[in-house]
Amino acid sequence: MPKTASPVFTEPFVLYQSTQLSAYAERVIHGFTGKPISLGGAAYPAEAAKTNRAEVCQTVGLSPSRLTLPRQTHTDQHRLNDAPCERETDAIILTETGVAAMVQVADCVPIILYEPQRHVGAVIHAGWRGTAQSISAKVAQTLIQQHQARPDRIIAIIGPSIGGCCYEVSTEVADAVGETIPHASLAEYQETQSSGKPRVDLKQVNRLQLAALGITQIELLAACTFCDNHLLWSHRKGEAGRQVAFLELKP
Ligand SMILES: [Zn+2]
Repeated sequence: MPKTASPVFTEPFVLYQSTQLSAYAERVIHGFTGKPISLGGAAYPAEAAKTNRAEVCQTVGLSPSRLTLPRQTHTDQHRLNDAPCERETDAIILTETGVAAMVQVADCVPIILYEPQRHVGAVIHAGWRGTAQSISAKVAQTLIQQHQARPDRIIAIIGPSIGGCCYEVSTEVADAVGETIPHASLAEYQETQSSGKPRVDLKQVNRLQLAALGITQIELLAACTFCDNHLLWSHRKGEAGRQVAFLELKP
């Protein structure tokens, strides 16, 4: 069943944005892209992806000269203001203006954090492995402990990913992500199908991890890469394309 989140536009590519972060459009550029363009992916032609990244920068006003697109390895690691591409990391914390930070996804959960008072933020790639290592909570903790972000001021946007409606996993995977939120009830993030296989809602797991830190301003974009596959790339559908979450701080 298609989910309710609607893109803000679909030409020349699908773009989702957060209502809450759009209120800070003078201070940050943010969004989550979709089809028909791909911004990366090992099996996607590199030159085409580069051209598409330039198109995204031009369309939304990102700085192409300081574009950061890391090589993601499903860890809990982050880097700070990392302008050169291809470094290994799964999240980028931004404290400098003019850096266009992107993470690629095609079912995994993209997350954007922003603290308006301190003017710091982050983009995060959280698949099940990153979620099982609490990457979003660790990045938020770094913003709080090292960059003086206040949990009640942090705005967290959890972007389009495969939904709990479609993400069937092994019990090992369900247990690994569930261990990160010991106080949550199973019903908040998992359902068991008649086949006995669990379906996990990684968006909800990440929401619960962030909420446990006292972050209250959390917005979930309900689009599912599998259900809304006409708008979004899905690895589980066998597609090579990748969408991105992006964030840039303005001066
Ligand atoms: Zn779905």
